Amino acid sequence: MNIGIIGLGLIGGSLGLDLRSHGHHVIGVSRRQSTCETAMKRGCVDCASTHLSSLTTVEVVFVCTPLGLIIPTVTELITFLPKTTVITDVGSVKTPIVQAITPHWQNFIGGHPMAGTAETGIDAAIPALFVNRPYVLTPTSTTPESATATVVGIIQQLKSHIYYCQPQEHDQAVSWISHLPVMVSAALISACSQERDRHILNLAQNLASTGFRDTSRVGGGNPELGRMMAEHNHEALLNSLHQYRHHLDELINLIDTKNWQKLQQKLQSTQQERPHFVKEK
Ligand code: NAP
Repeated sequence: MNIGIIGLGLIGGSLGLDLRSHGHHVIGVSRRQSTCETAMKRGCVDCASTHLSSLTTVEVVFVCTPLGLIIPTVTELITFLPKTTVITDVGSVKTPIVQAITPHWQNFIGGHPMAGTAETGIDAAIPALFVNRPYVLTPTSTTPESATATVVGIIQQLKSHIYYCQPQEHDQAVSWISHLPVMVSAALISACSQERDRHILNLAQNLASTGFRDTSRVGGGNPELGRMMAEHNHEALLNSLHQYRHHLDELINLIDTKNWQKLQQKLQSTQQERPHFVKEK
């Protein structure tokens, strides 16, 4: 199959490596010419350029640009494509993207591979990134079955686990497990670093170990990514944050009233719930 990939970074480059290994002909488009050349050298694409017009002959296009550029990129892209071309994206928020693109391109299906590393850019691309990882698809009532089937066929080759849901369901779910943790972790770091007593602050910084490393990891990550989550998944994230605050208030209240029994019950229930989200290896 002839497949186009726009945005040759971690996700686009990794996708290209795997698609080529399955015999697809991959045409890449990226913003910088130097990235196109690296992508060709690394075997992520068969050919690449900085022009969306180079994708007129592909059957499927994966849009893998930064989140905020997906809609403008597709708006420009569709001026070059025949109506039969299937477009899908990999953006980590789905509602605004699906709502904006669906009215303008019938053969569009939103997607989100739940895979990644801490790195970005074409040099971060690795083979088999999507193996055994969830890959969410968000077809709507107007998405043609043929478009879904085409994208599913490709994703199955990546050996991902496919999940189907509505864009809003996806956004609320990722808000719980990905976007809320970033904000909670950021609040933790922020609160600790505001300790006014310099001696205690220094002591805490020297004593911090694995517990703090685990709980602060996502809050100490890429600030642009955190902002992007809040900006594009605004409603779902706010909903999660308000509910989180309610649970925090409950804990404060239990500690304030020295209700140790209730506190232990609450912690017992969180201990039981965690394995439903995190499967220990
Ligand atoms: P990335 O490594 O920064 O790659 C994005 C690439 O897009 C950049 O390397 C850049 O390449 C290129 N680009 C920027 N503007 C462009 C434009 N106007 N036209 C064409 N290419 C352009 O980011 P990523 O982590 O792969 O993320 C890409 C998408 O995947 C995002 O929408 C994100 O939500 C989604 N996603 C990310 C992860 C993750 O964990 N990282 C997981 C799942 C989904 P050059 O400027 O070098 O040409």
